[in-house]
Parts: sequence; C-alpha cells; structure tokens
Amino acid sequence: MAFQKAKGTQDLLPAAIGTWQYVEAAARELCRRYGFREIRTPMFESTELYQRGVGETTDIVEKEMYNFEDRGGRSVTLRPEGTAGTVRAYVENKLYSEPEVAKLYYIGPMFRYERQQAGRYRQFHQFGIEALGALDPALDAEVIALGYDFFTSVGLKGVRVELNSVGTPEIRAAFRERLLAFLEPKRELLCKDCQSRMDRNPLRVLDCKHDQAHFEGAPSILDSLDESCATHFDQVRAHLDAMEIPYTINSRLVRGLDYYTHTAFEYKAEGIGSIDTVGGGGRYNGLVADIGGPDQPGVGLAIGLERTVLLLESQQTELPETTRADVYVVGLGESAAQAATGVAKRLRGAGLAVERDYGGRKMKAQLKSADRYEARLAVILGEDELARGEAVLKAMASGEQQTVRLTELEAQVITQLKEMDAQ
Ligand code: ATP
Ligand code: MG
Repeated sequence: MAFQKAKGTQDLLPAAIGTWQYVEAAARELCRRYGFREIRTPMFESTELYQRGVGETTDIVEKEMYNFEDRGGRSVTLRPEGTAGTVRAYVENKLYSEPEVAKLYYIGPMFRYERQQAGRYRQFHQFGIEALGALDPALDAEVIALGYDFFTSVGLKGVRVELNSVGTPEIRAAFRERLLAFLEPKRELLCKDCQSRMDRNPLRVLDCKHDQAHFEGAPSILDSLDESCATHFDQVRAHLDAMEIPYTINSRLVRGLDYYTHTAFEYKAEGIGSIDTVGGGGRYNGLVADIGGPDQPGVGLAIGLERTVLLLESQQTELPETTRADVYVVGLGESAAQAATGVAKRLRGAGLAVERDYGGRKMKAQLKSADRYEARLAVILGEDELARGEAVLKAMASGEQQTVRLTELEAQVITQLKEMDAQ
C-alpha cells in the first residue's frame, strides 16, 4: 500500500516553491530594513509554556494543540504559534539585558489540530515578528507597518488593516461585566460557540462571524479605555498616519490569544474561501512576566504564509521571472562529456546556473533539454572542436552561433549573458 501525507499537511513541490521563496525573501528583506533579526527556536516546547503563554481559554490550547508525552514522560507540544517560544528564548537567554529593544523575526512551520479547509492546515507556516522591551506606541505602529509593507511588497492588493485597543486586563475585566449585561438577555439567540464563549471569554463573542446581527448597540471597549490606554491608542494612530498606513478601526476586534494589551490588529483580505484574515498581532505587556521573565513589554504580529500564497494565486499576481538555467552545456561523445563536466564546474564557479546532459544523448535531444530549462545560452562541445581547443556558443533564442576559444569561454559566456540582460 502506498503512503499518503497526513491530513492537513502539504508537500511544497519544486514547481511551486518559487512563490514560497519569493514571499520569504520579501519578509527577510523587510525585516532587514526595519531592523528585525532572525531567531530560530525549537519546533516543540513544554506543553505548559503554551498553556501559560497562549492562554487556557483560547481555541489553540482548548482544542488545537498537538500534545504528546515523550519517552521521558514529559508533556511536549508541537508549536502552535511563534510568540510563546520566542518570548521563552528571550527570557532564557537574557536578551532583555541588551541595551536596545529586541526586534526578532521568525519564519517556519506551526502545528494546530484543526478541521482542514481552504487556508486552514494542520501544519502551516507563519512569518512573525516580536519587539520586546519598549512601550513606545511608535513600535506598535512600525510592527503594523512592516506587515502592511509585506503584503504590498509581494504585490497583493486589497489587504486592509483593522485596528483596535483591548486596554489592560483591569479594563477588560470591567468591560466584560458591561458586555455580559448586554449579552445575557440574548443568550438563547446566539450560536453554540458564542454561548460557551460567554462563559469563558465573552470578549471573543463580538468577533463571531454568525451573530453580528445581534450585536447592534453592544458596548464598545473603546469607550471603556482609561486615559493612558486612550493616549497610547491615539499615538499609535498618529504614528500610522505619519507613515501613511491606511487602517480602519474595528472596536469588536479581539485576537484569539489571551495575552494582548492595548493594540490589537488584523490584516484582512478576500479570496481564501470563507476565511478573511491573513495575519494579525498586537501588544502583550504581561506575557514576558507571565512566563517567568522580567516585566518587559512586547508587541508582535504573525502572518500566515499559506494564505499569502493562496491570495497571490487568486489575484494572479505576477511574480518576477526565474529561469532554471543560464547555460546548458552540450557534450557530444565520451571525452567531450568529460570536458563538459569541467566547463559546467567552471561556469558554476563563476556564479551561473548550469545544466547539462546526464545520459550521452544526441545533440538534438540535448538542445531540446536546454530549451526545457529555458537556458539562454548553450555551450556545445564536440570532439572536433575540442581537438582545436574550441567550443560553439549558441544563443538559444536567436539560434545564432559563434565559435570561441576554450580559454576565453568563461569570459565570452559572461559577456553574452550581460548583453542579453541589457537588451
Ligand atoms: P483564524 O481565526 O483563521 O483561526 P487565528 O486567530 O487562529 O486565525 P493566529 O493565531 O492569529 O490565527 O495566526 C496568525 C495567522 O496564521 C492567521 O491570520 C493565518 O493567516 C495563519 N493561520 C492560523 N491558523 C492557520 C491554519 N490552521 N492554517 C493556515 N494558516 C493559519
Ligand atoms: Mg484559529
């Protein structure tokens, strides 16, 4: 019986990987510009880290985690998100003792046991950033801007930023009572999820996709903010304006994770089935202390890369062209094949992508192969030419051929490719 991949996982095959590399390169380039440096943390951590760091009443911890007991009897979890592990590493390695704000980013797989659908997988990838060690609202705004720039720089259109403030835990506790007083008379009208959320995490009720019709006149958390929260929110907005980042305010936005304070935001776009969120984040001033570190504030975001790639496909975004080979080396006959190996090696050493024949095929078959690789130049090595210390250079598009000395081959190839680039 043949094996199949596990449910909710994907093989990213070479034909599609160009898009992934393009998206990842855009993320890395933006992080360079904004001064975020890469961190790579383990793919699994102790289960308790996520219970503490993500929150017991979140969907992730309640029903989506891949937990297992290892052979030593410890409970470990495949990481469902990147913030908890990054913050754990920040604390464990005392990155807080450095004088500057720790600006970190990661790109990698996350694991959640979810029902498979378009844009929802059990192994998926996130690009995320975390900035730890400053309360400055400029940092919230720059985090939001980096995410927005990411979507525009890969060429996506129509990605919107939604912004809210979820205040402090104290403000949320007071707001929770007001909200429950509003929701309680409507309890029976709401969906099952909302009814259970009312008991565990009522703020998330307002985020429900089905029940919006019942929420008219609901209290807004923005009216409950105290002066310092309101000031922070206003300043975040002013910094976004200074960068000309467009956004809309959505006072019902709460993120799925418990740890957010002040700023909460999401990136929304249409084109992935029923799903409209491609990323989100916020400020988490209590988290570092919650997992045993010093009282350092943080702000971050996470963007789903599968959803980004799906959007690029649904918008038919044109990606920069890449060819698989600059040069194809044709070797005709046994000694020419050996010479071809040497030529290919030298051209690769000069930085070119070089393909060749691996089967002693005839000239016609080898040139066909050169076309399949979209090589711009073919170097043809036959026994006669080699005996004269020569090779033939063929421009694949025009068919133009030229005989060159082997000693000048490398330089000639490079010159011709440059001329083609310039055309
Ligand atoms: P959703 O409401 O879609 O379940 P979420 O609130 O669980 O999203 P986050 O934890 O904020 O998502 O993760 C950030 C981003 O990671 C999401 O916006 C999405 O792009 C991506 N993401 C989350 N879960 C999955 C998944 N199971 N498969 C693919 N991408 C995902
Ligand atoms: Mg989710």
